[in-house]
Amino acid sequence: MSIIPTNLQAVQDHINATAHSVSRDPATIHLIAVSKTCSAQAIIEAAHAGQRAFGENYEQEAIDKMAQIQAIEPNLDLEWHYIGSIQSNKTRAIAKHFDWVHSVDRERIARRLSEQRPDNLPSLNICIQVNISNETTKSGLALEEARKLAHAVASLPKLKLRGLMAIPEPELNSEKQREPFRQLKQLFNQLNAEGLNMDTLSMGMTADMDAAIAEGATIVRIGTAIFGARDYHAK
Ligand SMILES: *Cc1c(COP(=O)(O)O)cnc(C)c1O
Repeated sequence: MSIIPTNLQAVQDHINATAHSVSRDPATIHLIAVSKTCSAQAIIEAAHAGQRAFGENYEQEAIDKMAQIQAIEPNLDLEWHYIGSIQSNKTRAIAKHFDWVHSVDRERIARRLSEQRPDNLPSLNICIQVNISNETTKSGLALEEARKLAHAVASLPKLKLRGLMAIPEPELNSEKQREPFRQLKQLFNQLNAEGLNMDTLSMGMTADMDAAIAEGATIVRIGTAIFGARDYHAK
């Protein structure tokens, strides 16, 4: 028996309880199962347990697994989120195979994704990755760059700007852990006040999802709590 369905249920229960504890509707928080380094079989097990959205960091690994899953279970309707760093020679494959990209951090990458998104597919959903940290002097610049990039993405024809994403440094103190998420939410509110129409705050992983949910996450990206510790040497 696989542990994956049990883990998934525990994560969903945890998200629901955390949402209630901060007076949020759990239905506004979407779970992405981060399946990097996991097998196609593990993804299928999670899908059978009701999980539809999966996050991947390495485009070739992801595309290989998509093909394997398609061969084993052609009727599974999964949603694929690219959350890894992006080299410009990988944009074509990402634009073709994914539904969302959470890690856009340069205008050049955004332009390529828009140009290379196949015509028969709907616009690619985009989150801007913001380099946010507790050192406010550093993140001030990052926030200004994110604003420029968000407006650029919003004007590209085959992209749909959905929101902002961040991966803050881990903090032991839970109050401190909330600070970068709060900053991201503030930027989100400011940009929407400038006319951008974003609906997504992609923030929170296994270790910091409670802080992220408390500060308004609409997507949490969870790997370890669902699939167990990753083994980077398995293949
Ligand atoms: C690996 C990864 C995750 C999942 O991390 P866990 O700690 O295993 O939940 C989430 N987001 C990004 C961008 C990642 O690279």
